[in-house]
Amino acid sequence: MDRLGYHLPILMYHSVAFLFDAPFPECVRIRPSIFAKQMKYLKDHHYNVIEVDFLFQEIVEGRSLPPKTIAITLDDGYLDNYVNAYPILKFYGFPTTVFLITGSIGIDPKFMTWDQVREMEKNGIRFGNHTVTHPHLHVASLEGARKEILEAKEKLSQEVQNPSQIFCYPFGEYTIACQRLVQECGYEGAVATSVDGALPLADRYAFRRLKISDSAQNKFIFAFEISGYYSAIKKIQKKIKYFKRHAVQVALALFEFFQEV
Ligand SMILES: [Zn+2]
Repeated sequence: MDRLGYHLPILMYHSVAFLFDAPFPECVRIRPSIFAKQMKYLKDHHYNVIEVDFLFQEIVEGRSLPPKTIAITLDDGYLDNYVNAYPILKFYGFPTTVFLITGSIGIDPKFMTWDQVREMEKNGIRFGNHTVTHPHLHVASLEGARKEILEAKEKLSQEVQNPSQIFCYPFGEYTIACQRLVQECGYEGAVATSVDGALPLADRYAFRRLKISDSAQNKFIFAFEISGYYSAIKKIQKKIKYFKRHAVQVALALFEFFQEV
């Protein structure tokens, strides 16, 4: 999926709420008005919005997806997803996957109830496993991590009709052992965050996503982020910054090299 720097964009949202409504930091929150504008942008510009499960299936089967293909995900299962995001997604008919912290659903008032989850499921929203308590899986014991994944999987299968076959790492943190574990637990793939790790970028057990927050309120920034080349350009920017920081050392090394030649 990283052909010529292109990486199929999977958008990652968390809380969709106004500042005064949401007890979440700005980096994991987007105002409903901006979210609505972004969804309208996808519609107006004829984006091919597909479900994450379908996207993974196409990757596994080696099929290429049409240009402007994109997937939408929301993490954690906040109540504001039901109140603010769901009506917009329903209006546009965008298939979306919400990854739930199953231990908080119907218990913590900041989160949705299972009835709300089921109502959304009937209207095109799919729900996936984001563990029971949102632990730091990469430092958890293997048995502890397995329990978190399997108990959440069991709960989802009891509460919804058709849970997603894709797993979502809490905090986007994972190790190779976590990836194997997710596979052993019967998942077809997993999504991480936009942080570049040392592991293969297009690995289907750690597929990168783009975190979208209020910072993407500008239409042009959003368009750039969803172009599929955002990460590649970020990497080039990093290299330029690195070069600038080490310009003196690079110049000296070149000078020495040419003196020896
Ligand atoms: Zn999360």
